[in-house]
Amino acid sequence: MTAPGRRAGRAPQPSPVEAARQLNLPLFDPLHASPAPIERGPSGSTRVARLCEQWLRYELRRSKRRTIGFVIDERGLRVTAPRWVSHVEIESALQDKANWILRKLGEWRAHQARRERLEVRWEHGAPLRYLGETLTLCVDENARRTQRVGDRLVIGLPSQARAEQLKDRVQCWLQARARDVFSERIDWYGTHHGFTPRRWSLSSARTRWGSCSADGSIRLNWRLVHFPIDIVDYVIAHELAHLRELNHGTRFWQIVGDLFPEYERARAWLRDFPEDGASR
Ligand SMILES: [Zn+2]
Repeated sequence: MTAPGRRAGRAPQPSPVEAARQLNLPLFDPLHASPAPIERGPSGSTRVARLCEQWLRYELRRSKRRTIGFVIDERGLRVTAPRWVSHVEIESALQDKANWILRKLGEWRAHQARRERLEVRWEHGAPLRYLGETLTLCVDENARRTQRVGDRLVIGLPSQARAEQLKDRVQCWLQARARDVFSERIDWYGTHHGFTPRRWSLSSARTRWGSCSADGSIRLNWRLVHFPIDIVDYVIAHELAHLRELNHGTRFWQIVGDLFPEYERARAWLRDFPEDGASR
């Protein structure tokens, strides 16, 4: 499994500019929208347009190019237009592409929401994703160890503990849980399908959810323990299938389908986590 990264959505033509940096999605509250340019940065001006009943903020840059170009990524919509093209013409081009623009922005917004679900605030009361559920971090100096109590994760630390200490404790707990859960699921595949790795271990790779080596060992990213169990199952099935086929060919996907029939849905779900890798 490798990480393909996510490309900026681009209008089929004309071809536009630039790459992506930080998350800033532009659909916003119409009550606060103004039809005039609202700020002017070094690179262009920010404008608003109304597309399909939605107010949309976009950045307009003037360039020497000959056509109007659109780029959509986590920063939102950027329009590049020749200096001689009027705002009316730009507005008209936006209307022509309205459906495409809104669909791409919606995809980025969903992608961002999923990424945010994995980010943990290391403080008392913060939510923590665990096997698709949401637990609440609960710092309690009287607790003797880290343990789940109902929908809380109780951590035995003094209330003035630093975020780093909390992170260490919680990640330690998550890794232990990952070891238990993955081990049980690997055993299940061994019993029911006869696929058993020579050995397996946890990884904390930034770019892969799992990997399989030619020597029959597999590695699984412990952060998968944040996800619903069927996503964990899919990644395990994927890596186990590599024990027979060390490629992503037709035969490989047939094996994945035998082990985990709903793999297409799980693959699509994982594609929204480009930072940590996605299945192919
Ligand atoms: Zn693979």
